[in-house]
Amino acid sequence: APAHVEPDTWTYSTCGFCGTGCGIEIGTKEGRPVAIRGTKGYPVNDGLLCAKGIYQWKMITAPDRGKHPMIRKGGTLVQASWDEALTAMTDKLKALLAEHGPESIACYNTGQLCMEEFYTLGKLMRAGFRTPNLDGNTRTCMASAVVGHTRSFGTDGPVGAYADIEAAEVILIAGSNMAECHPILFARVVKAVEKGARLICVDPRLTQVSRIATIALPIRPGTDVVLLNAMAHVIIREGLIDRAYIDAHTTGYAELEAHLRKYTPAYAAEICGVPAEDIEAAALLYGRAERSLSMWVMGINQSVNGTIANNCFHNLNLIQGKIGKPGCASFSITGQPAAMASREVGGSSSYPGYRAIGNAQHRAEVAALWGVDPAILPDKSPSITEIIDAILEGKIRALWVICTNPLISLPDQNRVRRALEKLELLVVQDAFATVDTAQYAHIYLPAALWAEKSGIMVNSERRLNLLKPAVAPPGEARTDFAIFLDVADRMGYGHLFPYRTTEECFEEIKRLTKGRPNDYSGATYARIEENRGLQWPIPDERSTGTPRLYADGRFNTADGKAVLWSVDPVELPEVPDGEYPFNLNSGRVQEHYHTGTKTRKVPELNHLVPTAYVELNPRDAEQLGVGYGDRVRIESRRGEIEARVVVTSQVAPGSCFVPMHFNEGPVNRLTVWAVDPFSKEPNYKQQAVRLRKA
Ligand code: SF4
Repeated sequence: APAHVEPDTWTYSTCGFCGTGCGIEIGTKEGRPVAIRGTKGYPVNDGLLCAKGIYQWKMITAPDRGKHPMIRKGGTLVQASWDEALTAMTDKLKALLAEHGPESIACYNTGQLCMEEFYTLGKLMRAGFRTPNLDGNTRTCMASAVVGHTRSFGTDGPVGAYADIEAAEVILIAGSNMAECHPILFARVVKAVEKGARLICVDPRLTQVSRIATIALPIRPGTDVVLLNAMAHVIIREGLIDRAYIDAHTTGYAELEAHLRKYTPAYAAEICGVPAEDIEAAALLYGRAERSLSMWVMGINQSVNGTIANNCFHNLNLIQGKIGKPGCASFSITGQPAAMASREVGGSSSYPGYRAIGNAQHRAEVAALWGVDPAILPDKSPSITEIIDAILEGKIRALWVICTNPLISLPDQNRVRRALEKLELLVVQDAFATVDTAQYAHIYLPAALWAEKSGIMVNSERRLNLLKPAVAPPGEARTDFAIFLDVADRMGYGHLFPYRTTEECFEEIKRLTKGRPNDYSGATYARIEENRGLQWPIPDERSTGTPRLYADGRFNTADGKAVLWSVDPVELPEVPDGEYPFNLNSGRVQEHYHTGTKTRKVPELNHLVPTAYVELNPRDAEQLGVGYGDRVRIESRRGEIEARVVVTSQVAPGSCFVPMHFNEGPVNRLTVWAVDPFSKEPNYKQQAVRLRKA
């Protein structure tokens, strides 16, 4: 490791990696990044950081940072000026608009921009280009939570606060290896457990979370809805419900009670593959506590049953009146640092202020605030899998990819590759010119990283966190905000953007969210910094934010009541059979992030987890005749990869797990092209594969 260099300046900012939203300070010496430290007293992390957080400054100066725009000439991307690159891009977009209309153009973004960039991009695509084809990689992690919130509570938005973790008597963590994927939140869980809280862990893998659990339920993949219905069944049967709360604040209880009669622990045990007594015990533990909290992430959301599983968590908490109270929450945790911001200000599948794309009244409100004709605003919002299919059908001809790597991160890589090859224009805008998707780009635009810009990110507890620039972007790289405004000006849409700084942009965003569930009216950059983040709604300048939503029991539905949903699981798209006998699960490790385009630039992180691997149960490893470190070939109906074996009882016999971060063993060459019917979120966690020694 290089010798430690003492910074001469520390700049207030926010971690650019995960949805936890830790407060950080970026240490620089003579304008170069040399260190990161956690912000002491910050309400999210109080000075703690995980390995990714500590080392993230090293990616800023990685040698393959994009420093200049590039245009493909003779099969190779070659350096160009900004004027050449943006002229080539906008000339082609203008030609496509004239010949094929707005629906021939699409944009696929990320959960890693700042709020002002999401807002500007949403306005550019919908009011400028007038195309409906705008989605983000947030679709692949949180869409089921978004739709789940909306169906149960009337609008999106996580209800709880991190402080509820320490206040809970019982914590239920499901479909989340929080110890690896949200380590700072897990530190808070550990603290709660040390003080006496009981932990229930629901996960097909026996992860580090299950090792400190009072009850671990390693259910069969994809059986969460059955388990949650059975827990609600026990809670109702034992009278552990809050009848007064149900009557005053929910609809659908009578149907739910009848619907759940068949979901006995014995019935669920058969399907979930865990003992009925354990299901019963978990339900009683959760139901008998005065303060219990449930948290979940991708293991729940990335499934064809993702949305209804979210609704089952909300059912479980609503029937006990465990919403809006300290130590109680139905808490969907987010993955990326600004995924929430994208959801809130129209960066992906909604209009700003949690306004629905398909709602004419909402479109009229947005049009009035933007000063445009409501008729020009798109009334639909295709998902990324629909966009890929539309490219293959020849309906979409141009794709602008911003700060994400769909070639590695979307399911069924071979299908995605065919789509990228078919495009007439692929623009890749990213901090790294080496991002895999750029192999197919016609134009590459170099973008700034989080430490090089100002703006707001929003974390899983609705906290607005501030980014302040600590260093200048390398070479000619620009902020995404500046690139969007330049494209807008060149397309002739400049009149839509009366602001030129992110702070001015935030003032416009505040007008769009005034009176809406995510009201930011009382926030300013100065107040966000002064208060070390503010949790929305922040209705006026006296407000220091709102820790919990729905504390008054009034929800955002037409009648003000939350909806209890009676649901049964749908069939999984693919289950193991004689030909493909293993279930393949995919996910993350602590040291890496997404497709590794950032974390693999950090030698310390790459040293810890340097390459793709597959976790196999010892029984299966023995049957396959492989040991630790051997290479195996993994095949699905869509493709094959090779990976090194890690023998571990963390996975059950008949299952295997491959992390998603590695382009040399891309798990998404194997994953199935199937989505949740409500949220269109891909099903990454359950598919059938076979293995043999390589
Ligand atoms: Fe950053 Fe998330 Fe680690 Fe906190 S937990 S330091 S936000 S990556």
